[in-house]
Amino acid sequence: MAEFETAIAGAGIAGLTAALLLSRSGRQVSVFERTAVHYEVGAGLQISPNAGRILEQLGLGPALDAVSVRPQAIDVYSGSHLKPLVSMPLASAALRLGAPYRVLHRADLQRLLLDAARADPSIRLALAAPITDVETLSGAISFSIGGTRHAAKLLVGADGIRSAVRHFVDPGQTEIAAQRTAWRTTIPAVEAPEELPRDHVSVFMNERSHVVAYPIRAGKEINVVAIIEEDWSGEGWAEPGDPDEITRFFRNASSVLTALINAGKAWTRWCLRAVEPSGPWHRGHAVLVGDSAHAMLPFLAQGAAMAIEDAAILTRCLAQPGFDTQAALQRYQALRQPRVARVWRAAQQNGTIYHMSPLAASFRDATMKALGGERLLARYDWLYGWKQNG
Ligand SMILES: Cc1cc2nc3c(=O)[nH]c(=O)nc-3n(C[C@H](O)[C@H](O)[C@H](O)COP(=O)(O)OP(=O)(O)OC[C@H]3O[C@@H](n4cnc5c(N)ncnc54)[C@H](O)[C@@H]3O)c2cc1C
Repeated sequence: MAEFETAIAGAGIAGLTAALLLSRSGRQVSVFERTAVHYEVGAGLQISPNAGRILEQLGLGPALDAVSVRPQAIDVYSGSHLKPLVSMPLASAALRLGAPYRVLHRADLQRLLLDAARADPSIRLALAAPITDVETLSGAISFSIGGTRHAAKLLVGADGIRSAVRHFVDPGQTEIAAQRTAWRTTIPAVEAPEELPRDHVSVFMNERSHVVAYPIRAGKEINVVAIIEEDWSGEGWAEPGDPDEITRFFRNASSVLTALINAGKAWTRWCLRAVEPSGPWHRGHAVLVGDSAHAMLPFLAQGAAMAIEDAAILTRCLAQPGFDTQAALQRYQALRQPRVARVWRAAQQNGTIYHMSPLAASFRDATMKALGGERLLARYDWLYGWKQNG
């Protein structure tokens, strides 16, 4: 007899969103998190309307607004040009799409999801409780936590890129190193270069690198991520990066970009990895959501957004009248995989587009300019305009 109705491995964005949605659909949910909680891990996160809508349905809109910024536009700069090539108007797009685009600190989102989960009597949260050794059980699934075996009717693997649940579901699927690193820092907004618009997302494209900057913490800080092509394969999300190294890398960039990089005092360095979204994403009574199923490169800012969408669709499939667990999990994968694979590929493609050599970049820039910001942004309506019941 299974002790848990629904067990979730991982209290990241995927796990906590799934817990909240599944609980609201009438399930008893137990979340097991490996660490003793890690608020400050990571830095900025862009939450586009497709995912923001789901968080708003959970009643988190006001809490999100208190810690985030709704940027007016995404400005794209090329090489050492001081003016943006295009400016994609997010504020008007929000009106068209019926939901805002928000930018915030990952820890703030994590904290507000955790607070909502703690306030929910149908969610039990266990910290320092890593799930290991997942095995099939007749009509259920079994796993270990600290050497003790447990059983659940359903196990949701929201345990990130190094997923123990994926090891059971799809043992052959491993992460791919992207030969790129993300250097990350946050700076007080008052220390950012004057020319940097405080209420915009700014993307600086260079040969073999790009930099993204946007406000977080209700505008008090600027999140800066520099993506560099380099062959470094460190582990973890928060390895220190030498400020001299990153400053040297961008010493010949535009004056705004150089000033922005120089303003960063404490950098972390993160080796980018991905997981092919080819699946399978379920086996027996176990299913994968978020990075465990399909970690993607961050060049479309959609990893967390796809995790949030996964949680919504999984919940809907499990609540479908007449569906047993197997039918629900099959339906979940059938609904999610084509969209996630498209987003995954588009993120990869952006990596190539952002890092072009000068000759290719001149064609890219001319095309972007000819299209203009509004039309460029409208090309993403398939992504940002997505609705779970649409
Ligand atoms: C540089 C960079 C910038 C990004 N920017 C954006 C962005 O702007 N917008 C966006 O949408 N996405 C962005 N992403 C992607 C996003 O960060 C991830 O896709 C998202 O955090 C995945 O959430 P998750 O819950 O699936 O996994 P994770 O956040 O990795 O959470 C997994 C959780 O499971 C726990 N865990 C692991 N193993 C076990 C186990 N065996 N048992 C129990 N618990 C376990 C972990 O401790 C962790 O808490 C970015 C990524 C990078 C690298």
